[in-house]
Amino acid sequence: MRLSRYFMPILKENPKEAEIVSHRLMLRAGMIRQQSQGIYSWLPLGKRVLDKVNAIIRDEQNRAGAIELSMPTLQSAELWQESGRYDAYGKEMLRIKDRQDRPMLYGPTNEEMVTDIFRSSVKSYKDLPLNLYHIQLKFRDEIRPRFGTMRSREFMMKDAYSFDLTREGAEHSYNKMFAAYLRTFDRLGLRAIPMRADTGPIGGKLSHEFIILADTGESEVFCHKDFVDFDIPGEHTDFDSVEGLQAIFDKWTSLYAATSEMHDEAAFNAVPEGDRLSARGIEVGHIFYFGTKYSEPMGAKVQGPDGKEHFVHMGSYGIGPTRLVPAIIEASHDDNGIIWPASVAPFDIVVINMKAGDQACDDTCELIYAALTRAGKDVLYDDTDDRAGTKFATADLIGVPVQIIAGPRAVANGEVEVKDRKTGARETMTIEAAINRFVA
Ligand code: ATP
Ligand code: MG
Repeated sequence: MRLSRYFMPILKENPKEAEIVSHRLMLRAGMIRQQSQGIYSWLPLGKRVLDKVNAIIRDEQNRAGAIELSMPTLQSAELWQESGRYDAYGKEMLRIKDRQDRPMLYGPTNEEMVTDIFRSSVKSYKDLPLNLYHIQLKFRDEIRPRFGTMRSREFMMKDAYSFDLTREGAEHSYNKMFAAYLRTFDRLGLRAIPMRADTGPIGGKLSHEFIILADTGESEVFCHKDFVDFDIPGEHTDFDSVEGLQAIFDKWTSLYAATSEMHDEAAFNAVPEGDRLSARGIEVGHIFYFGTKYSEPMGAKVQGPDGKEHFVHMGSYGIGPTRLVPAIIEASHDDNGIIWPASVAPFDIVVINMKAGDQACDDTCELIYAALTRAGKDVLYDDTDDRAGTKFATADLIGVPVQIIAGPRAVANGEVEVKDRKTGARETMTIEAAINRFVA
């Protein structure tokens, strides 16, 4: 991508409305734009990051055996009347009428709809277990939308829904998502700790929130500090092994960890003082097992091996991609801007032409840009005629992991500089060596 032809509206000034660093940096880097309160457009740079986050989420959902579909954002009120949540949900639900005066709503979550899909076609235990997910926009009319896309009214959610014949089966399905979440957040460069959580309006029996420790987090959390160094399940984890996944769950729930709603002062005080971590955190995921809470009122049942009908045991599993992007920034930035983990960086490499219009600089940059692009890298080429200082500031601000800098003096020697955004380390090398380093 040539920066001269891209759309990346950088802000020079610090936006006054931004209270936390991630919101400030997302606005300054031209990643998002507020359209109305708590409703955002994702501009091209932000969209690239969001897509990479979603690709990792999708990959790990698929690995764990979940199956992707897509459900609509607008839902009919009827389904919610069946479950009893149409009245229970309150003002967070945006209620709409269509031209026939039929009550509709913009979905805040999809338990009812997915249960309806399930009951219309699954009739036998032989079709279980089943886990269906989608990555879709939600709307919740939050009282206090704030911090940019961290808490917005329209936001994206990956929501998965599991169906099992028995409670034991449902617990295995829960453990699959539990392990998938540990892997997902790790691949996003984050350390998320599962904490016992309140089940809230989704309702239910077993529930964990996945929390990232951050000073700007809205949740107050209490946990054992050893969680910070626990091992993440590897990529060869067998998601069909009941014992294997139970062992992962048991290990990750063996020490104290709870959000303030579930906090037990006495149990926390039993943790040796030096091991206690009381901090603030950002909720990036939330999983629930809620048994037959929706299957009973909505009549979602299957025939079991005993020939009888059984209401299915369900769970739901949410991750917020549009909250994860600012959460990653909260965890990874410095005074100059964002520092993306390579897995979600909008571009892998930025090539900076320090003197656009200078034949040798232009030729060198074109050569590098073409070679890296051909090798499958996402490359941003700063071919604009801005001052070098402005280009360096922009490259640091948008946080691309590697900068290849071509200035007239180095280029005259057949060399460029390679800068690591995270460490700031710079290395001079031949043009060929710079290309080879990333083409390997
Ligand atoms: P919170 O407690 O932060 O209001 P919640 O518990 O109501 O969130 P869930 O129903 O558990 O949210 O939704 C699953 C995930 O969706 C959350 O873990 C979070 O990552 C994301 N999410 C929920 N509400 C928002 C929001 N208003 N803006 C952005 N992401 C959100
Ligand atoms: Mg929650």
